[in-house]
Amino acid sequence: MYAAPFSYHRATSVQEAVKLLQELGEEARVIAGGQSLIPLMKMRMARPTALVDINPISSLREIETSKGELRFGALVRHADLEHSAAGATVPIIHDCAAGIADVQVRDQGTIGGSLAEADPSGDWGTALLALETSVVCFGPDGQRTVPLEEFIQDAFTTALAHDEIVTAVHVKVPPKGSAGAHLAFKRSAPVYPTASASAQLTLEDHNRCKEVRIVLGCVGLTAIRAKEAEAALRGKLLDEKNIRAAVEAARAAADPQSDMRGSADYKRMLAGALVKRAIGIAARRARGESVEAGHEYVGR
Ligand SMILES: Cc1cc2nc3c(=O)[nH]c(=O)nc-3n(C[C@H](O)[C@H](O)[C@H](O)COP(=O)(O)OP(=O)(O)OC[C@H]3O[C@@H](n4cnc5c(N)ncnc54)[C@H](O)[C@@H]3O)c2cc1C
Repeated sequence: MYAAPFSYHRATSVQEAVKLLQELGEEARVIAGGQSLIPLMKMRMARPTALVDINPISSLREIETSKGELRFGALVRHADLEHSAAGATVPIIHDCAAGIADVQVRDQGTIGGSLAEADPSGDWGTALLALETSVVCFGPDGQRTVPLEEFIQDAFTTALAHDEIVTAVHVKVPPKGSAGAHLAFKRSAPVYPTASASAQLTLEDHNRCKEVRIVLGCVGLTAIRAKEAEAALRGKLLDEKNIRAAVEAARAAADPQSDMRGSADYKRMLAGALVKRAIGIAARRARGESVEAGHEYVGR
């Protein structure tokens, strides 16, 4: 099906994008990679009357490191992150970027668009919540920086006002001795995962967990920080007993719905299995091992 009629506007600066959004009214939408919005428009599940294309704003494509932060412009593509130095330094970023859908989607889809879409099955919300992440927004009153925890409010709902845009995503560089992993399980490349999990650990004395974040994806209306699972490991040895307690707490934190991707029980079990593997891989990486991780497909 073709999309319903709309007008198309190119913005060459963030100020112009915001001005256009104000002038064109509540039914106008930003378009970035178009990988979520265009399919929804073709299915007539989204009917914006106007699109504001932010792709001409070249400053939104930059990746830089400043003041202990990785700073990604909103238009940085998944593929840029897959092949970036940032992905090599912070493996959870590479795991996430390299696993999203297929090459075509990764070449077009953006980090800013993914967070603005706030799809509960999206990977970035889960992976970035395992790190200290904030979202930089620009609107009529200027710039504000919102912690990711507050930016994503509900399924497909964020703290963005209609006339605000995401300009950047800032991620604090994890300390020495810290590493993470993002894992997702899906039926095939061009579909969203059935469940996903991210773990970021900071180790001391090789096997004691000084700090930890554990996040579940696709098993709730937003990505879920499994805080009781984190408490089961924080300050403790990474042994079988403590990891089992963390996995059980993570399963209890999951709140999945049954759908075509699987039953709620299946997804809860899957989330627990992914958490266990993510903890194991994160710990090996934190000890200096090079371990591959990412999206797994059924039957592969
Ligand atoms: C076949 C297929 C499979 C996919 N599989 C996965 C997957 O496994 N994992 C995954 O995480 N994602 C997946 N995706 C989604 C993909 O990652 C998209 O790139 C992402 O969801 C949206 O980014 P985008 O740049 O394409 O945004 P767009 O589609 O352009 O926009 C999405 C929404 O965000 C708004 N928006 C975009 N950018 C901004 C901005 N800077 N400021 C304010 N609002 C903005 C738009 O108005 C729109 O409402 C898949 C997509 C497809 C088509």
